Amino acid sequence: MTTTSMELTVDVIVIGAGPTGENVADRAVQGGLSVAVVETELVGGECSYWACMPTKALLRDAAALRAARALPAAGQAVTGTLDPAAVFARRNSFASDWNDSGQVEWLTGAGITLVRGHGRITGTRAVTVTDSDGTTTNLEARHAVVVSTGSSSLIPPIPGLDEARPWTNREAAGATSVPGRLAIIGGGVVGAEMATAFSALGSQVTLISRTRLLPSVEKFAGEQVADALRTYGVTLHLDAGATDVRRDDGGEVRVTLSDGTEVTADEVLVATGRVPNTKDLGLEHVGLEPGSWLKVDDALAVVDDSGQLEDGWLYAAGDVNHRALLTHHGKYQARALGDLIAARARGEEPDLSTWGRHAATADERATTQVIFTDPEVVAVGHSAESAEAAGIEVGIVDYDLGSVSGASLHADGYRGQARMVIDEQRKILVGFTAVGPDISELLHAATIAIVGEVPLDRLWHAVPAYPTISEIWLRLLETAGRDR
Ligand SMILES: Cc1cc2nc3c(=O)[nH]c(=O)nc-3n(C[C@H](O)[C@H](O)[C@H](O)COP(=O)(O)OP(=O)(O)OC[C@H]3O[C@@H](n4cnc5c(N)ncnc54)[C@H](O)[C@@H]3O)c2cc1C
Repeated sequence: MTTTSMELTVDVIVIGAGPTGENVADRAVQGGLSVAVVETELVGGECSYWACMPTKALLRDAAALRAARALPAAGQAVTGTLDPAAVFARRNSFASDWNDSGQVEWLTGAGITLVRGHGRITGTRAVTVTDSDGTTTNLEARHAVVVSTGSSSLIPPIPGLDEARPWTNREAAGATSVPGRLAIIGGGVVGAEMATAFSALGSQVTLISRTRLLPSVEKFAGEQVADALRTYGVTLHLDAGATDVRRDDGGEVRVTLSDGTEVTADEVLVATGRVPNTKDLGLEHVGLEPGSWLKVDDALAVVDDSGQLEDGWLYAAGDVNHRALLTHHGKYQARALGDLIAARARGEEPDLSTWGRHAATADERATTQVIFTDPEVVAVGHSAESAEAAGIEVGIVDYDLGSVSGASLHADGYRGQARMVIDEQRKILVGFTAVGPDISELLHAATIAIVGEVPLDRLWHAVPAYPTISEIWLRLLETAGRDR
């Protein structure tokens, strides 16, 4: 590696030190390459400070309290309510108090060079980094430039919304007080999770969604979460869009809905989707549209609209390629990509076959997601609808989770449901969705069955322990029938 004060040449440049960028860099270094990572905010990215970690910390105490209250004696022993200050204090520690020194230590310990500042592509394998004090560093890559700049909150063009100073995920994840009334625009994962968290913390929450709740998962799952939110006192306006937002001089926010309803709140949280962090990235220098999601081929190499490669040196991983906006999928792509770049640098052909070492096949066949509402939702692979759209001969098997002995033992009045989506031709599982309290750990068994393409016949030999919630597997197989 040769360096001057303002010039640096490395094998690989990674723009963005979120979970994806960190992992691409780590794998490339392990593959024998030198890597510089460019970061304009905090090393660790959105996930560590304003998304996954702090939001899950906001939800965890409420989930533990609910679990205790679902049992008669434990419930009796719990007499108080959640102390928001204590919840926020624990959240702060999971967000490392918005200080990235721990992650920087890991990064440099892993042999990665950190360049602080805003990175812009300036030409082939060239990136210029501008620090907050105006210092610029010109980076050159011998092999590859990886864009892993993530995504930010989308602010939809609703009249008055911008001026109403809405919360995005950042203000919600970093909240230091609980608004008396919180309006949430958006019924996807972030909207549903934040409705769960803030209603448990004491807000009177109103959620407004143009669609049904949780439209990205099977309908039954969204319905059970909606029912639970209503019992927690959340008002849901589903299939109704927000058409106007105003904040008056007293600070009160009024949201007008498409059906004429008016919702008054102290804060309004916008959770209507994400935009890629590519607006000011120098994409115009490589013939791509600034502000667009980056399209990639199977090797995660950036392609233009016509599918042409940018000469094989520019890659994109994580949220910014829009394949699966989830930390664990970003990191999965990162492992494949870091290894692929190292392999190509050694002159080796990457293995891009289905489930091959350098292919991110799971993005297409086995995307995993946990939605940390109460009840939780887990999903992997296809929904019944997406399997049909993919031309699979679909078999659907549903089972009431509340009838599984492990679940009824777990909590009184346990309510939940699980669905297997089967490829009837191949007799394998291609999708699994479940909703129910405390089921997040059920997901990985389904993931292994799907990724391993385990025949249904063989799944009968995976004997779930009695009495656990995992017995749902046996019940689903029995419902499917031994001779299916
Ligand atoms: C509220 C919320 C909760 C979520 N919860 C979960 C969850 O529980 N589990 C889960 O798997 N996913 C969750 N997600 C999604 C998850 O946060 C993202 O999928 C993940 O952060 C993507 O990682 P990334 O590395 O691709 O991008 P990011 O984490 O966004 O990191 C990108 C980094 O690039 C930097 N950057 C951007 N542009 C430049 C530039 N030009 N120069 C230098 N640096 C730049 C940014 O500052 C940032 O640090 C959640 C998202 C939200 C909004």
